[in-house]
Amino acid sequence: MYIVMLGAPGTGKGTIGKILSKDLNLVHISTGDIFREQINKGTELGKKIQSYIESGSLVPDDVTIETVKTRLLEKDVEQGAILDGFPRTVIQAEALREFLKENKPNSKRVAIELDVPDDEIVKRVVNRVICSNKSCGAIYNKETKPPKQEGICDICGSELRKRDDDNVETVTKRLGIYHQNSKDLIEFYRENNALYSIYPKELDIAVNDIEKFLDEYKRKL
Ligand code: AMP
Repeated sequence: MYIVMLGAPGTGKGTIGKILSKDLNLVHISTGDIFREQINKGTELGKKIQSYIESGSLVPDDVTIETVKTRLLEKDVEQGAILDGFPRTVIQAEALREFLKENKPNSKRVAIELDVPDDEIVKRVVNRVICSNKSCGAIYNKETKPPKQEGICDICGSELRKRDDDNVETVTKRLGIYHQNSKDLIEFYRENNALYSIYPKELDIAVNDIEKFLDEYKRKL
């Protein structure tokens, strides 16, 4: 099964996506994480996309689609994946549909929309800190979910870092871009797949509701 996580930055796609990935044993693929890794490694791709990410713009569709297709052909994706941050445009959604039709014809797709008011998103994003250990990647919030020791991950003890693009100016821009594309994107999934929308106020309850929905969805297939 391919689960597409839709939602503006800071709605919890990463946090919820990682929990679903563990519970459902599906690999978690975040385009933002892939892009940041390429930038950190200083690859050709990283150099090409750095300015888009720093300014909060979207990386062009062709580059993004190629990156995701390459990742989806890797061995750990055989059973499906949780796609976090992709697709972000209808062009990307269409490309994903065509890719799966061609390469994984029996796969099922479902979209989960995380719908959070914008003012809450800004608060969540500017207070977000993330574990620097890639294999952990735990996400904290300085106000609502602080680590026990400031700057240190509760789970693995690594240093916590703030993302360069998690500031008010960039998040406001990223939110604007999300709203420009989201109506059509959500409509695309409403028409083409199962779409489940939720306001993830309490993390545990949201995960529980999503997993209940996915169970019912699988049963109906
Ligand atoms: P995220 O970690 O999902 O918030 O993504 C961080 C940044 O990576 C975004 O602000 C975009 O610049 C870029 N990005 C991530 N996913 C995509 C995508 N599907 N399409 C275009 N740009 C993306």
